[in-house]
Amino acid sequence: MPSFESRNPARPADVVAILDLADAAQVDAAVARAAAAQLAWARVPVPARAEIIGRIGDVLAEHKADLARLVTLEAGKILVEAGGDVQEAVDMAGFIAGQGRAAWGTTHPCEMPDKFGFTTRHPVGVVGMITPWNFPVAIPSWKIFPALLAGNGVVIKPSELAPACCDAFVRACVDAGVPDGLVNVVHGFGDVGAAITTHPGVRAVSFTGSVPTGRRVAAAAMEVGPKLVSLELGGKNAMIVMDDADLDLVVDGALFGAFGTAGQRCTSTSRLVAHRAVADELVDRIAARAAGLRVGDPMDATTDVGPVITAESAQRIHAMVERAVGEGNQLVLGGEIVAPTGCEGGSFYTPTILRGAHRDSYIARNEVFGPVLAVLEVGEFDEAIDTVNDCEYGLSSAIYTRDVNRAMQAVHRLDTGIVYVNAPTIGAEIHLPFGGNKHTGNGYREAGTRGLEQFSETKSVYIDYSGRLQKAQIDNRESLT
Ligand code: NAD
Repeated sequence: MPSFESRNPARPADVVAILDLADAAQVDAAVARAAAAQLAWARVPVPARAEIIGRIGDVLAEHKADLARLVTLEAGKILVEAGGDVQEAVDMAGFIAGQGRAAWGTTHPCEMPDKFGFTTRHPVGVVGMITPWNFPVAIPSWKIFPALLAGNGVVIKPSELAPACCDAFVRACVDAGVPDGLVNVVHGFGDVGAAITTHPGVRAVSFTGSVPTGRRVAAAAMEVGPKLVSLELGGKNAMIVMDDADLDLVVDGALFGAFGTAGQRCTSTSRLVAHRAVADELVDRIAARAAGLRVGDPMDATTDVGPVITAESAQRIHAMVERAVGEGNQLVLGGEIVAPTGCEGGSFYTPTILRGAHRDSYIARNEVFGPVLAVLEVGEFDEAIDTVNDCEYGLSSAIYTRDVNRAMQAVHRLDTGIVYVNAPTIGAEIHLPFGGNKHTGNGYREAGTRGLEQFSETKSVYIDYSGRLQKAQIDNRESLT
């Protein structure tokens, strides 16, 4: 059977895992297994499904340190962030397990006497999932737990860059009691994702990744469907800093938001929209602190910034920085690909600050997915809001101000799915809906109670206990007057 390797981004000579490369026949077999197992699973009472999901959380918590190590080895996250990736799945298990005893629909009065209406959830059947590399445990948990609670079978294709993390996660699901065949992992590249997307046995596709891939997935699914397709895509997240902001707080937030996870979170802070009155001081202070961040081996507890995922990724980031400089930005800090001692062959990008971007420029409008912060200066509040909103992405934004009126106006006017006040653009909690506006998604949300919506069909039920044909009001209006 053909295979491929996943490698440690900090030391690409190290092979982390060797995976079987799936083909169309294996995707077929995985869908068939999921479909067969789903029939029995859909008959398991929802609270009993929830109990198993709760146990998965226990298994993940028990193995958190080992799993975190694997996330560091395969995705290059520093250990503390890798632990966070696993913890997110533990928390999601707890939340989704709780949802198994929560309301499963709504009740409604009916137009006719002795008639009652309610809604309930119906499983979609087999859900195809395609995930990115950057939250290799958390994102599968955001999709698999609600899909299972809703009574579905699963076929998941994780990113080819972090496949072993998904295998380990699914092993935990099986160890906790998820029935055989219900959750199936197939490995490979875009063609395997495409085979899932277009498979006639897959009713819903849940995709997280970049905008260009998301567009391809949605188009392919609709061509053979229609299917339910949920897209969680990229971001160009901005932090507004007003002239009354607490700059100590801003500096801490900007460092974490822009350079945490080497800027490779979908919600990473990529634009700093600073009031002109504070821009000089702010840029100086962020640059001074960022210069002190340790770039190095993510296994070393003293490291702040680990590698970017591949050499190609480092080259792409660098090309964007060079283009920004060519278009007149000042390179305040960074702008270099480095390979720290002990990480030969790895691709690390130094924390980078660019200043002077115009809101129409390439660097201000495109996702970097690396440790690069572009500073844009504005003169007043309205200009700041317009600058943030003038972008095709709409995932996360933040405003730092001590003025509660301004803060609340920003909450209403920022066109993003997530808004933070006096906190950076990263830091979502799993019990609130997660997702974005505009090209960041297609209207679904993950996590929170809305996370179940993409994995269940709503069924409206009418019960007539009058003992006669009553029809509905539209067919029967005179009888009421
Ligand atoms: P990517 O789009 O390159 O790949 C995502 C997945 O799609 C991978 O598993 C890949 O193999 C698969 N794929 C590629 N071509 C395909 C095709 N034609 N059909 C089906 N599947 C295909 O993204 P990535 O580099 O892994 O992840 C980074 C991106 O993900 C960034 O844009 C980031 O913002 C985004 N992201 C979004 C969220 C969110 O919740 N909004 C969360 C994390 C990451």
